[in-house]
Amino acid sequence: MVGIKRRKSREVKIGSVKIGGTNPIAVQSMVKRSISDLGAALRQIKQLQAAGSQIIRVAIKDRRDAANLKAIKKGTNIPLVADIHFDKNLALAAIDSGVDKIRLNPGNIHKPADVREIARAAGLNKVAIRVGVNSGSVAAYASAKNKVRQDCASLMVSCALDYIKLLEDSGFSNIVISLKSPDISTTFQANQEIAKSCDYPLHLGLTATGPYSVGVIKSSIALGGLLNAGIGDTIRISLTDEPLKEVKAAYGILAALGLIRDRIQIISCPTCGRCQVNLVRIVKNLERKLPMLSNQLLSRPMKLAVMGCEVNGPGEAREADLGVAFGKKQGLLFKKGRPIRKISADKCVDELLYELKELKGSGTFKCRNATY
Ligand code: SF4
Repeated sequence: MVGIKRRKSREVKIGSVKIGGTNPIAVQSMVKRSISDLGAALRQIKQLQAAGSQIIRVAIKDRRDAANLKAIKKGTNIPLVADIHFDKNLALAAIDSGVDKIRLNPGNIHKPADVREIARAAGLNKVAIRVGVNSGSVAAYASAKNKVRQDCASLMVSCALDYIKLLEDSGFSNIVISLKSPDISTTFQANQEIAKSCDYPLHLGLTATGPYSVGVIKSSIALGGLLNAGIGDTIRISLTDEPLKEVKAAYGILAALGLIRDRIQIISCPTCGRCQVNLVRIVKNLERKLPMLSNQLLSRPMKLAVMGCEVNGPGEAREADLGVAFGKKQGLLFKKGRPIRKISADKCVDELLYELKELKGSGTFKCRNATY
């Protein structure tokens, strides 16, 4: 796999997680419960953390939510981000509650005096600020700056840069940027432009993507393209669905690009009339047994190929760390590019898991609490 050369960005600390610089791309998620229900919000935070989320954002819609932030912070050790709109006092209260980052929307908190006040408080409390521009909230900026003819992506970029200038003029530089739109091209273009304009870390996401079936595809195209171009330091997948599915999708995108170490990528063919084994069942079984979101710590990304016949099978199996190319009921098992033995379709999953353990033993990867 050709390595991805990542854009050089400065490092920003979000609680215990460092993003940007040479740090791995962090997976974020957002609680979909109101934090006015403390118990439910904390339960969801724990589930998201267990699924692999590394930074979690909560929406602060009023003073009651802001008042609950201290208890939320006390109930979890995960870096916490408060999502603030409209009211600078909510931002100040969130900073006071000890959150690790606040997200501000330049579309609705933009008075220079307010931004300066928030920047001062965030600076004193070592809280990072995400300048989170959404395409849906740049219209006011466009008319205020007489830029109504500018395309949406460029508008989002200039809106973010103007806001960053305000923060920097207040002596604040603990900044993360996000430019999100429901439109793939707009998100892509905006992030490419901002990536060239500054070295702050970028949080990637597509907003309002729709239900799972569509949202995952749109997010994979937009974020996958950006990540493949080396752009992006954290990601969040937004879906009109359960939040755990967002985390799983985020890891799926990172794994597909070889951007995380602790995942095994399954390479398997779609099958066709040549295939003489039940490859779909084998791969589903394998996927179920491989611990996808936890328990593993690989020293590098690994590929596991499961192929239906001798047309492309031996080639792919040889390229992978571990692979099997099936013929009639039996498959030829390859390990690190060399054929090692024949295995039956029935035993294929167990054999592959056994060989994975062997690779683990040889130091190719280390496991924490391996379950297989
Ligand atoms: Fe068909 Fe063989 Fe290709 Fe699989 S590897 S899709 S079975 S030709």
